[in-house]
Amino acid sequence: MTEAWGPDDDKPRRFAGPVKVRVPAKINLHLGVGPVRPDGFHELNTVYHAISLFDELTARPGDTLTLTMEGEGTGELELDDSNLIIRAARALAQKARVPAHARLHLRKTIPLAGGLAGGSADAAATLLACDLLWGTGYGKDELAEIGAELGSDIPFLLQGGTALGTGHGEAVSPILARPTTWHWVVAIAEGGLSTPEVYRELDRLRGSTWSPEPLESPGQLMAALRQRRPEVLGAALANDLQPAALSLRPALAEVLKAGYDAGALAGIVSGSGPTCVFLTSDAAHADKVAVGLRDSGVCRDAVAARGPMPGARAV
Ligand code: ATP
Repeated sequence: MTEAWGPDDDKPRRFAGPVKVRVPAKINLHLGVGPVRPDGFHELNTVYHAISLFDELTARPGDTLTLTMEGEGTGELELDDSNLIIRAARALAQKARVPAHARLHLRKTIPLAGGLAGGSADAAATLLACDLLWGTGYGKDELAEIGAELGSDIPFLLQGGTALGTGHGEAVSPILARPTTWHWVVAIAEGGLSTPEVYRELDRLRGSTWSPEPLESPGQLMAALRQRRPEVLGAALANDLQPAALSLRPALAEVLKAGYDAGALAGIVSGSGPTCVFLTSDAAHADKVAVGLRDSGVCRDAVAARGPMPGARAV
């Protein structure tokens, strides 16, 4: 990175050279879904956890706003104004009253529509990269505010770690747990699932007679995070969207079974799916479970990942 302004200037730092930002995927260790609110969002109580599956966004100076990409979803993902990257860059430029000029390039590893919040991750990376490129000098909280307008998971992906999400997921507070690395296996599915469709399926399954209870704080999971025992954490994982994802994609039951057959301590659908994540006891165990899942042929790929990871960071 090349600095256009030196540290002695009083203007915010701006970078003349490329700014590269790495951003993690998220999984939900707990996903409690309440009723639909008047604004159309479901009330959520969730525990986010950032894992070591990363997208990378590079921002370079340009005369217009352009986006190119490589990796997962290339040829499938629109690179026009509907892309969350373009929307995030424009939202920041508008707020800061600067021209939205940048050449953006995405290296994508997080699968599309996988329940891993890849789009939100890319938007978080864009906010940080363009903030540095344009020298707009916003803090994480201000970027999170801009991000929350675009997607509920964006504030968490700027922050990373393990955090409690409330509201519709956009209100994030970090969970201070004992520093522990958890070892996961991510089973990547062929094709995605639409998040709004999964929520609609949940509402359908609950039916009109469903009477919502107030969302409980995930006490068991919080207690498990304070210990270093993966089997305790495994028993506390929960996802209210899982029955809806399984109803739309019954084959996910085979993925979950294959993970257990391969020796995983616990398995769960990640967010709205169709990605499934499995908890293991250590790195070697994760590699073994990943091999077992790949050999079973029930998923497109299976990769080991660690968490928690920091949120979007310049590298
Ligand atoms: P979430 O769990 O946050 O709802 P997801 O992980 O299931 O999301 P994403 O990959 O974040 O799914 O994307 C959902 C949809 O958002 C995609 O199908 C795509 O149409 C749209 N989208 C817009 N920009 C992006 C982007 N940069 N990366 C991925 N998807 C994007």
